Amino acid sequence: DPRINGIKTRIRVVPDFPKKGIMFQDITTVLLDPKAFKDTIDLFVERYRNKNISVVAGIEARGFLFGPPIALAIGAKFVPLRKPKKLPGETIFEEYELEYGNDRLEMHVGAVEAGDRALVVDDLIATGGTLCAAIKLLERVGAEVVECACVIELPELQGRQRLKGKPLCMLVEYR
Ligand code: IMP
Repeated sequence: DPRINGIKTRIRVVPDFPKKGIMFQDITTVLLDPKAFKDTIDLFVERYRNKNISVVAGIEARGFLFGPPIALAIGAKFVPLRKPKKLPGETIFEEYELEYGNDRLEMHVGAVEAGDRALVVDDLIATGGTLCAAIKLLERVGAEVVECACVIELPELQGRQRLKGKPLCMLVEYR
């Protein structure tokens, strides 16, 4: 799709952020270009509009930029999966490993129900640990995870293999 290259050219790569050796993929520069931002949303909407998705689950924080416009366009509810102690209601959580230590994702109890068909959205998949935790949260409440969607994949880290067999749709690979 010719739109992909336009999106790719808008992603800014920032060397040594947040620490030395990391090539940080910055999607805020995609948001600065209304056409590239719209193309990003449109590509996902075209893919998911007739798939009976009932919930889009967005991962804090950059999944909150792409998830809601996709949810609105396909007529699904949006559910935020948040970092610890941000959600005010009763929550369930899944822990996942970071390079140093652990983190967790939390979800409001009752936001997703058994039988919901879920799409999980984030900006980027690296090791897949974050998306794996999201899938576990959704499956614990009886939802079916139909697919994960990311703007960027770092294929060398083989994050796809941690997605419990769930398909991943991405727009841009960074090698
Ligand atoms: P993973 O759990 O190793 O797959 O890491 C993915 C998570 O880390 C996502 O929530 C991303 O937003 C974030 N992340 C890791 N590397 C980058 C990057 O280069 N740019 C933007 N986000 C990143």
